[in-house]
Amino acid sequence: MPRQASQEPQAAQPPAPKSVPSDPVQSESVDPPPTAAQQNTLSSSEQVARLLLEAAVVTPKQMQHANRVRNKLGEDYPLTRVLTELKYLDPAQLRSTLREQGAHIHLGDVMVELGYLRPRDLRAALEAQSEPDYQGKRLGEILLDMGLITEQRLIEVLADQLDFVVETPNFTQIDPELLKLVSPDWCRRLCAIPLRREADGVLVAFADPLDSSGRHGAEAAFGRVVPAIAISRAITEAINAFEASRTHAKQRKSPASESDVTRQVDSLIISALEKGASDMHIEPLRHVLRVRFRIDGVLMQVREIDRELAPAIASRLKVLAKADIAERRRHQDGGFRFDDPVSGRRCDIRASFYATVFGEKVVLRLLSRKAELLDINQSGIAPRMLERFIDHALELPSGVILVTGPTGSGKTTTLYGCVNQLNDMETSIATAEDPVEYVIDGIAQCNVNAKINLTFAETLRALMRQDPDVIVLGEIRDKFSAESAIQAALTGHKVLSTFHTEDSIGALLRLMNMEIETFLIASTVSAVLAQRLLRKVCDHCAERYQPTPHDLQRIGWTQSDLAGGEFLLGRGCRNCHFTGYAGRVGVFELLLPNDALRDAVLNRQSSAQMRRISVESAGLVSLMEDGLAKAAQGLTTIKEVLGKLPRVGRPRSYREILAMVGAVNG
Ligand SMILES: [Zn+2]
Repeated sequence: MPRQASQEPQAAQPPAPKSVPSDPVQSESVDPPPTAAQQNTLSSSEQVARLLLEAAVVTPKQMQHANRVRNKLGEDYPLTRVLTELKYLDPAQLRSTLREQGAHIHLGDVMVELGYLRPRDLRAALEAQSEPDYQGKRLGEILLDMGLITEQRLIEVLADQLDFVVETPNFTQIDPELLKLVSPDWCRRLCAIPLRREADGVLVAFADPLDSSGRHGAEAAFGRVVPAIAISRAITEAINAFEASRTHAKQRKSPASESDVTRQVDSLIISALEKGASDMHIEPLRHVLRVRFRIDGVLMQVREIDRELAPAIASRLKVLAKADIAERRRHQDGGFRFDDPVSGRRCDIRASFYATVFGEKVVLRLLSRKAELLDINQSGIAPRMLERFIDHALELPSGVILVTGPTGSGKTTTLYGCVNQLNDMETSIATAEDPVEYVIDGIAQCNVNAKINLTFAETLRALMRQDPDVIVLGEIRDKFSAESAIQAALTGHKVLSTFHTEDSIGALLRLMNMEIETFLIASTVSAVLAQRLLRKVCDHCAERYQPTPHDLQRIGWTQSDLAGGEFLLGRGCRNCHFTGYAGRVGVFELLLPNDALRDAVLNRQSSAQMRRISVESAGLVSLMEDGLAKAAQGLTTIKEVLGKLPRVGRPRSYREILAMVGAVNG
């Protein structure tokens, strides 16, 4: 009796073992009476036989024959094996039937029929199901519990034999909308968890995808279900993790107490100080409140806080900064002094509140109070350059000394280093700043505060009456402050200030563009120190690096210009957050005007002419040259130098630069 299956290529079928008698005479023999277990309930074989007959995969006559054969072999010999060996059934057909009719057959029966479980073990498990210990437990669980099968084997069987997809549920990937349709307890009870919507229905991972109550329950909840299999432990863990995250979210959603917010804010500031951050950005995004620190000039994300806490944190900071707590739609600013008795950390903080579409973004500027550590000798100015700066500018009785650079170039720090250098018992120093960024003992510092009408002009008038030797203006912002600085220098004061220009020559040009008389510029400006901060190569992961021909071409150097240099590059490690850089190093360009340059200013010569004169006769070393010398000493990289310093002309060789400025220590 040919069947469709038996017409398929025989090579795909396992050869029929000799043990299976195919003698048609045997088919005449009478079926034995059912066993005790079979009388109570259908045996695994009978369950499978019923399915196969219903699916018309096997004819009743074939089934009868197979049953007779099997009765001679014993009940441990699965009926389906007999059917396949008789070539009445092919394994692929068996698998697809079991999978499709899975809801109508028990896992245990499948395991028995597939030969992974002995019928008597299944009976033992079924009997145990009525014991108090196992009451209400699924058969799969009991089989595992009694050690009759391992979970891994169970999954292998179901995946390999029945083609169920094996899933590893991860609560972060679970569609929360699906979980809302059921409860964690539902998931636990059925040992199932919905994972995602697929084209054919909702993918649900079951510990036992053949468990009909689970399948029916899932279908009732989600409609069409695509069953998958997962280790029950993984399902339980995913449910627990989901529940924990929800409880956590709930707790976070409950109104945070004032002390929680205070603690949160304090811990952020302490952490920023510990990490040496210069600024902290607390910014509400669509879903979270993001906290970033600026460290070594680069922003770095450090924390994500529940979005719900944003208003409370902003309010806390407004209270500290003495800003209007009720105002949320306008930009505000303020400041406060942070003093943590526990960590001993303190600093002045400037707070800026900026109304964004997602709420107020707060930026805190941390003004380090460690002014006593500001030492011009430790600033990274090369030794010979520093010597000239002190001798020919700082120690002159009068004149304007300008520290220039863009925002974040470290010019304020250098300015304070100069002030520290000049601060002694015999010198009177007074400042007009906006704001006071470092507090230095022994000098009179004033915050210019336009809010209370304490303007720069008024401050300056009062300051002049204070009999100062040294006047420090935080920044020259306009013609008025420029004229004030020059006027003070003309009356015999030493004036220090910062100025926002690209390089040293740029400061002279900008003063000229402000329509300051050139003879005033020429006679008062005693020094311009232009500055940048470049990232420093991380000490922990630095490696020797040979500049490439491309590097050299971009610099304008030949191989011989490198001679004596030792270039380093950070490989990236934990210490440097895998950036290859840790800390920063200052790069400087010192302009000490000589007679030739003063003439050039008086004659309003071009920037290029003034630069040429400065290089040729006033000993000017450009920012680029100082940067290259620092790269050649392994302090920074060529990439930093080329990316952050202005390029003016071809730099001199490393040896020439070194001869002019000297090697930096550390
Ligand atoms: Zn490193």
